[in-house]
Amino acid sequence: MAQTFNLKVVAPDGQVLNQDVEFVVVPGDDGELGILPNHAPLIAGLTIGVIRYTAEGKVHKIAISGGFLEVVNNKVTVLAQTAETADMIDLERAKAAKERAERRLRERGPEIDVVRAETALKRAIARIKAKEE
Ligand code: ATP
Repeated sequence: MAQTFNLKVVAPDGQVLNQDVEFVVVPGDDGELGILPNHAPLIAGLTIGVIRYTAEGKVHKIAISGGFLEVVNNKVTVLAQTAETADMIDLERAKAAKERAERRLRERGPEIDVVRAETALKRAIARIKAKEE
């Protein structure tokens, strides 16, 4: 059997995942970060993107909108601002959020908060990727 480690993903409204996994890739602030069993202790910042993990040979995805990762004693904990497994994601809602953000960025009226629209767009794209790909 493949070596595993425990992966927990927690969002403000509760735990999204608690599972033994073989491999995980997270969207680190400085690029993607791959974690295998027996990884050295680590704390890292996470950005908006998709977590990919392998469990029993199958790849699964979780969309997150930033947070922190801790690796210690073969346990990986992700504390995320928001986190959704593919099952939890409402694709139509994410597509609508993407279109809304794109329209705001295109029109760029004086009342538009560009950074806010850009981060909303990134969250929507992460959700679509976690659901569709
Ligand atoms: P929207 O404009 O559709 O509300 P958002 O990016 O502004 O999207 P967030 O503030 O990131 O939404 O999330 C608010 C809550 O709604 C969180 O609990 C998040 O997990 C959930 N959520 C947001 N979008 C979706 C989605 N497409 N499917 C499922 N849950 C979602």
